[in-house]
Amino acid sequence: MHDPDPVDQQTRPDLAELERPALEAWLRAHDHEPFRARQIFRWLYRHGVTDPAGMSDLSIGLRATLAAECQVSTPQIASRERSGDGTEKFALRLGDGRVIESVFIPDTPAMTFCVSTQVGCAMACAFCLTGKMGLVRHVTAGEIVGQVRVLANALDLQSTPFNIVLMGMGEPLHNYDETMKALRILADEHGMALPMRRVTLSTVGVLPALERLAREPLMPNLAISLHAPTDTLRGQLVPINRKYGVAEIIDACKRFPLKRRNRITFEYVLLAGVNDSVEDARRLAALLTGVRAKVNVIPLNAAAGIPFERPSDAAIDRFARTLADRGVVVSVRKSRGRDIRAACGQLIVEGQRRSPGQALALAAFGG
Ligand code: SAH
Repeated sequence: MHDPDPVDQQTRPDLAELERPALEAWLRAHDHEPFRARQIFRWLYRHGVTDPAGMSDLSIGLRATLAAECQVSTPQIASRERSGDGTEKFALRLGDGRVIESVFIPDTPAMTFCVSTQVGCAMACAFCLTGKMGLVRHVTAGEIVGQVRVLANALDLQSTPFNIVLMGMGEPLHNYDETMKALRILADEHGMALPMRRVTLSTVGVLPALERLAREPLMPNLAISLHAPTDTLRGQLVPINRKYGVAEIIDACKRFPLKRRNRITFEYVLLAGVNDSVEDARRLAALLTGVRAKVNVIPLNAAAGIPFERPSDAAIDRFARTLADRGVVVSVRKSRGRDIRAACGQLIVEGQRRSPGQALALAAFGG
């Protein structure tokens, strides 16, 4: 499909942003059979075909209507970097020129796409580079799914099962409606048909949204970015904790509906001398009593401008062992793609930050 001019962009429906029922309604309104939406979904999400001219099982008339009246916006690959460990970081340019990052992590053992739900992030966690950007804007459902389409295409993984983690830039529960819409599009049986057990949503714990999520028919795996066992400490690291405290989050987790044998992951970024003591581990284990939990310890990925250090291997080990000794299921996240700054908390796009005052601290990241 040709590039629409700016006026068109506002008026032409973007097929990438439509759930199948909406596409069916649009087709009906244009005197086409609604079931054609299934075929269009197959082209878009299984074959990566976005130009109606290539949708060969549609009538010539419908192809012409789609070409004339719709658009399909797809993020463009601005750059692509490959790490020594096979991890690949994609910078993707959106329709308005904003750039987000998506990461491909192979063999974990599955293929995993880590996608962004916001340009920047409003949560401002003390150790996270994305948080330094502030929130630039939400990412739309079509752009969330678009990251998956682009990566699957670029990596030739359309017919390989893959996992999706909403752990890129942004806080998914701060962009609730677009995130859930994206999951519905990804799950559509006529499109990618992605099973929700292959999706993990990671959140700092925006409590009202977490409670809303608990009532959704479509249920991804849940990861909570906890990082500290007490309000005093968590309040310093994760500002939103001052609004929704540790006890409330844990309570919501206890009520969260889980499939049999499934567990909530608690992410815990380990910061030397801050939250990595044996006492912290004991408190964490006590806090998680009665929660179907597993803890994912993430040793800090240090960066210029982040005022914390990664603990020694011995300290990481001691922390994890203290948890395990108390019966907590625990794993230590192996950091992937650190050499290309694709690791957790290292996603940031230069030139989009809201506050110019932060440029100095981040200069070492140079783009
Ligand atoms: N906003 C969501 C999604 C981002 S996920 C959330 O916070 O869960 C990114 C994960 O990487 C989070 O667990 C986050 O806390 C962690 N992280 C952020 N900065 C990090 C850093 N510098 N080193 C290691 N992990 C980091």
